[in-house]
Amino acid sequence: MMYKKNGVVLVLSGPSGAGKSSLINAIIDDIGDYYFSISTTTRPMRKGEVEGVHYYFVSKEEFQKDIEQDLFLEYALVHGNYYGTSLKPVKEALSQGKLVIFDIDVQGNTAIKNRLGDITTSVFITPPSLSELKKRLINRSTDSKEVIENRIKMAKREIQRTSEYDFVIINDDFDVAASVLKQIAKTARIKVPTDRINEFVQKWEDIEQ
Ligand code: GDP
Ligand code: ADP
Ligand code: 5GP
Repeated sequence: MMYKKNGVVLVLSGPSGAGKSSLINAIIDDIGDYYFSISTTTRPMRKGEVEGVHYYFVSKEEFQKDIEQDLFLEYALVHGNYYGTSLKPVKEALSQGKLVIFDIDVQGNTAIKNRLGDITTSVFITPPSLSELKKRLINRSTDSKEVIENRIKMAKREIQRTSEYDFVIINDDFDVAASVLKQIAKTARIKVPTDRINEFVQKWEDIEQ
């Protein structure tokens, strides 16, 4: 098949503390050529986070400037802070045939579905219960009590939107969840966009004539 080399997208969403970062870190070396999209955010940096590794940390003014210059593929206000995905590195990675991974919120998933739905596989990662989520956020000890309360409130709303995703992973047993995510990431890679399927079907129709 003479298909052009084209990348695909894997979207991960889920409440803060669901285990998205831990799961992706656990499988990242086993899923082939990938590009992990580093978001830009106005949220304050957490202890242990590194500029340009976890996020690009900017002021509200700088973020606003990027919006005006149309630099974002999508952006959203999440838990009171802005988060956005820069378009340029994503385009480049897709043209190199990579698996492009996004850790974005439910609004971001809607935006990506609208713009890149054909090549996107989406996964919602959820903790087994709200009490377990609270425990994990407290254990992670990266956020204040107030921030944790707010994230739990948001979690209740986010979980209502699980049905918008192709797959849902309940992150109870970590190793099981990681193994399922690995399988999904591998499957995302072989997703064939609709236009290519149509092209393929058309060729067969042409042969019959
Ligand atoms: P975590 O949920 O504890 O990992 O906290 P983060 O501060 O890393 O992420 C906050 C929220 O913003 C999560 O729901 C992410 O999925 C979301 N998020 C991160 N980056 C982006 C992005 O580029 N676009 C969108 N739309 N959402 C993002
Ligand atoms: P997210 O990126 O979704 O905000 P993290 O990956 O930071 O979530 O996970 C939140 C916390 O929960 C971390 O301290 C992590 O070590 C822990 N954690 C993740 N998955 C599990 C699990 N299956 N069982 C117990 N703890 C977990
Ligand atoms: P945290 O502040 O805990 O790092 O992230 C909070 C939430 O923001 C997470 O659910 C994360 O997925 C989401 N998020 C991070 N980056 C982006 C982004 O670029 N766009 C959107 N829409 N959400 C993001």
